[in-house]
Amino acid sequence: MTRTASTRTTTVGQITSSKTAGRKVRLGVMGGTFDPIHHGHLVAASEVAAKFGLDEVVFVPTGQPWQKQHKKVSPSEHRYLMTVVATASNPRFTVSRVDIDRPGVTYTIDTLRDLRRQRPEAELFFITGADALEQIMSWKDVDELWGLAHFVGVTRPGHDLPDLGRQDVSLLEIPALAISSTDCRNRVKDHQPVWYLVPDGVVQHIAKHKLYLEASDAEIA
Ligand code: ATP
Ligand code: MG
Repeated sequence: MTRTASTRTTTVGQITSSKTAGRKVRLGVMGGTFDPIHHGHLVAASEVAAKFGLDEVVFVPTGQPWQKQHKKVSPSEHRYLMTVVATASNPRFTVSRVDIDRPGVTYTIDTLRDLRRQRPEAELFFITGADALEQIMSWKDVDELWGLAHFVGVTRPGHDLPDLGRQDVSLLEIPALAISSTDCRNRVKDHQPVWYLVPDGVVQHIAKHKLYLEASDAEIA
């Protein structure tokens, strides 16, 4: 079941109304593989930050994502560095190594537990695109997830925002950017431009380190 844009933002007003002096730090959490980070990720974070009055958005590149265990993912240091380059110009955007420094497969529940431990003063807002939100009910320890953060699902071209029927999940319509990391990787492999799909510094990092020239998304034998 999906909701239309007009019914999407019912809980935003309630949440933003708590923006008063002495309130908790409002910390957005933008998790992703970021292979590479692109303007769809940055617009999603910026829109949620503006709508929800976030003080900071921390981008958290995954280690080996559990959903992509059979896919080839670029080394985490490249994904981390591209995320740093892409977010450097925004004083409210930061990058965390919490997932890439944790051994093993990345689960969102561990990301949120660690961030809660590191930032006990903060109220967490986990930002997720419509495609990831569709799968959320299958995430590890989903019942505990709801208690750790408020979830904000954003629109993404080609995906319907699911109605999870929960008060603690907000849905937000954002400008439609039909950009995916998969498409960016395929473009680089095919010698097509990724200018303006990803930040300039990310284009340069990809070229300098010759990323994505091999077949992307190859299944690991
Ligand atoms: P891939 O194609 O490799 O899966 P991706 O473009 O989906 O890459 P991810 O790193 O998997 O990027 O996504 C991280 C988060 O950003 C997810 O919650 C995803 O839904 C969201 N997201 C990615 N691209 C967009 C977009 N264009 N608009 C809105 N949300 C997006
Ligand atoms: Mg994805």
